[in-house]
Amino acid sequence: MSGQRLRITEYLQIEPETVTWHCASCGYAIGPARENYKRGLLLYERDPREIHPPQFEGTQDFAPDPTWCRIVEYYCPGCATQVETEYLPPGHPLVHDIEIDVDALLARRRRSGKGRRADGDQRRHRRNVHRLPRDRPRRHGPDSEGVDHAP
Ligand SMILES: [Zn+2]
Repeated sequence: MSGQRLRITEYLQIEPETVTWHCASCGYAIGPARENYKRGLLLYERDPREIHPPQFEGTQDFAPDPTWCRIVEYYCPGCATQVETEYLPPGHPLVHDIEIDVDALLARRRRSGKGRRADGDQRRHRRNVHRLPRDRPRRHGPDSEGVDHAP
């Protein structure tokens, strides 16, 4: 159920039941949430001169040196949404930029009750209703003239 997923970034969600990364746009299951989500995405290695063309003719451009820098774009295999972009030296491994403590996240959800079944939530709700204070009966008599007298 997409309603149960936790939003991590604009384009990434975690499904607590399966502990899996999902695309927030299309729901595609990217991979295990204990691993780097980038391993489940499509990569497009770009030459920085494509991304940063010269803005004025005859002037120096501001593109990073392509022998020192590659631009790596990551796309969802399900819907082709661009999920992330990195500037990396050629040959550099994928950066593991988001590492979620999944066990702590799931434990916090259990404590907050978000992982409970609907009937469990219903019981808790009913118990709270019984704790609500009741209005004390008001006394109104011929001599009260609209003023309440505490018993
Ligand atoms: Zn997608």
